[in-house]
Amino acid sequence: MNHPVPEPPAELVARLRAAFRAGTTKPVAWRTEQLRRLRTMLTEQGETFAAVLHADLGKSSTEAYSTEVDFVIREIDHTLEHLDTWLRPEPAPVPAFLGEASAWTQYDPLGVVLVIAPWNYPAQLLLAPMAGALAAGNAVVAKPSELAPATSAALARLLPQYLDTDAVAVVEGGVPVTTALLEQRFDHIFYTGNGTVGRIVMAAAARHLTPVTLELGGKSPAFVDRDTDPDAVAARLATGKFLNVGQTCVAPDYVLTDPETARTLEGALAKAVENMYGADASASPGYGRIVNERHFDRLVALLGSGRLVTGGAHDRETKYIAPTVLAEVSPDAPVMQEEIFGPILPIVEVAGLDEAIAFINGRDKPLALYAFTESDTTRERLAAETSSGGLGFGLPVAHLTIPDLPFGGVGESGMGSYHGPYSMATFSHRKAVLSKPLG
Ligand code: NAD
Repeated sequence: MNHPVPEPPAELVARLRAAFRAGTTKPVAWRTEQLRRLRTMLTEQGETFAAVLHADLGKSSTEAYSTEVDFVIREIDHTLEHLDTWLRPEPAPVPAFLGEASAWTQYDPLGVVLVIAPWNYPAQLLLAPMAGALAAGNAVVAKPSELAPATSAALARLLPQYLDTDAVAVVEGGVPVTTALLEQRFDHIFYTGNGTVGRIVMAAAARHLTPVTLELGGKSPAFVDRDTDPDAVAARLATGKFLNVGQTCVAPDYVLTDPETARTLEGALAKAVENMYGADASASPGYGRIVNERHFDRLVALLGSGRLVTGGAHDRETKYIAPTVLAEVSPDAPVMQEEIFGPILPIVEVAGLDEAIAFINGRDKPLALYAFTESDTTRERLAAETSSGGLGFGLPVAHLTIPDLPFGGVGESGMGSYHGPYSMATFSHRKAVLSKPLG
């Protein structure tokens, strides 16, 4: 069934719930079939996705494949490989006073899941949660971001061509459409985006007692210890920061280091940026653009927050902002007040590890914390004394490519997690079962 005219949200959800209740989505064969078709869509339409991601965000084809198309393919392959194991009931020991009996837990699908995606990885952040929701046996309503309109249109056109439209629907639109969707009763809502809208989603979900997963953002710090190799640290920091022009939820937001290390790191970062994008990043095919004028203007206003080490060039017409490093940035500077979500890397100076830990713990719990250090004690202290969604030693961003690690935030950076087996847990109910023979 195809629905060229947008269905009213109440009817859409009722239709999908009827399919769920009829048992359409429960058989493992249906789930694996949907995952395979999703995979086929990505392999057959890879070039389409590369083109729309370039149109929306100036992403290079290499980046479109590695961070979106191939990323989701890997997530699907991992799920297909392990789904049977994840779905196996897990036995639980039975206390002696119950006599002869057995007990176990089993995963039940939840029903109709709403997935709301943002614009920065507009394909990955819609399709990876969808893959988890389908693997867990749910019907899915997918809402791509209106701020990545070309990708949204491609997803709305292609997904119904590949997936079972009795149980999967794509709804395009902005705030009014999302608001109308949120009035419906879903069995789970999975939202990726900012904390302000996260609160709106959670309040709407509360009316129906619908559980939510909120994948939010925040300022992810990168601590750089003294006696680290500045060139190696700078190369990895710059790669993580300037990927997708800094519009990555787990990008290192700012650097925390002592004044001496800061001086050597400055030069190393300038060199790393030039190695990656040449003397003029606007001419580099590997460097994208800011999503829209609103974000461009917001970011340009932050460029004066510290001493310019490299970058600073910008052009509103093409929404280009050069990879920028700012030194001697005060914690009170505008750039330190909210998540940057763009290509500006401030260096904030602290006396050492103790002050860095106090700095991190004095602010919202970040989605990720990174540290570059040769010291086991420093690693152990950071792991034990701080709280963040994820923790990366020596390499930013990459923890989320490990499918057996949960990806999610804590506190202001979100609640719940997904990827691999954690998607299965998120999109299922873990049912407790007791079985005792009669007589
Ligand atoms: P966005 O503006 O695209 O919004 C996300 C979704 O929310 C969209 O589908 C949009 O339609 C919907 N929305 C917007 N306003 C709404 C409203 N008033 N009511 C209901 N729905 C509404 O994305 P964004 O928030 O600009 O994304 C950037 C943020 O997302 C950053 O904070 C970033 O750190 C975070 N992020 C987190 C992750 C993660 O996995 N944790 C990943 C990417 C982005």
